[in-house]
Amino acid sequence: MNDWLGKVRGHVGEQKGRFETDRREREAAGRAPADKNIILTEREVQGEWDAGRVLFTTLGGQARPITADDLAAFRQNMRQAERRFKGGKGITARQVIDLASSTPLRYVSPGQPSSDIDKARREITMAAPVSALNGTIRFMTNAGPDSKVSRHHVVVNLHEFEGAAAQLAAASRKDGKTPKQVASWLRKQKLSFDCDCERHRYFFRYVATIGGFAAGRKETGYPKIRNPRLIGVACKHVLRVMTELESSTAVLRFLEKHLASVSEYKARTQLTQMEAEDALKARTPARIKTSEQRAAEAARVREKRALARSAKRASAKRPSRPDPATRRSTKSAAATLGNQFGMTPDQVLALLAQHAKKG
Ligand SMILES: [Zn+2]
Repeated sequence: MNDWLGKVRGHVGEQKGRFETDRREREAAGRAPADKNIILTEREVQGEWDAGRVLFTTLGGQARPITADDLAAFRQNMRQAERRFKGGKGITARQVIDLASSTPLRYVSPGQPSSDIDKARREITMAAPVSALNGTIRFMTNAGPDSKVSRHHVVVNLHEFEGAAAQLAAASRKDGKTPKQVASWLRKQKLSFDCDCERHRYFFRYVATIGGFAAGRKETGYPKIRNPRLIGVACKHVLRVMTELESSTAVLRFLEKHLASVSEYKARTQLTQMEAEDALKARTPARIKTSEQRAAEAARVREKRALARSAKRASAKRPSRPDPATRRSTKSAAATLGNQFGMTPDQVLALLAQHAKKG
């Protein structure tokens, strides 16, 4: 079933090899002679623009030569993206999922699922951490149906690894936390990521770089063709990994194991082939839920519980006692009636109860 996983042994070499190829190709593109160079550099976006240079953008829909107005629009898009990511260092798994949903970069080809989050839900159903060195966790995911490869590598840097190690070092104290508690805290903190796929490379690496959450090579060339508006945040592989990282028990167990081996603020964890396969066995993928969907689900659960509670109350034999204020006012009303008809208040109440039953 998990053929895509392939050999765990050698996964680090394969992952490093792919990122190394990416780096070499990018360097060559940057060194290309002026008439063949298609990289729009940071300095050019800032205005050092050679008007004789012809580069294209798809801003506005169709490919056309870049103008000075486009450069101003690019700068504006950069400021907006920085605001969206709060110019911060790192991003949480939750933010990645929410931003992928609220500001998606749509796929334009007809018949395709419309966004990366749709694709993550439908196509990328498996992801597992396979090894970890300190705060760097290496995940593997299955590849989509049209991919040239069978698996992808997603590298995640957990920014609070040292903070987690410090919490564990203090664990001998009375209020010390267990590796499990620290692991579940750690996976909700800020992180940065990198993926070896082309979607990340050409559409999102620049966004991750200016957003402060690029774990690997920083991209300085503006994505003028693929993503000139700088929207979206992560590819389908990263979205699957973020979901598993944040909510699956398999990842929690992995982090727990990794943290339990911390010594002098260092740790190395490597799953064997069998352990990796076991972790993936018979597992249904965690559902990718935005915060909005989570809140709606929680509200539905609360409603259901409240309904169940009131149904239980209604079916209980003894009718529930009305609150003291109601009891007092009922009693005084019964006393008034009793005075009129020569009955005690209790007689009046008994009569009313009998009447209510009949009605
Ligand atoms: Zn990817």
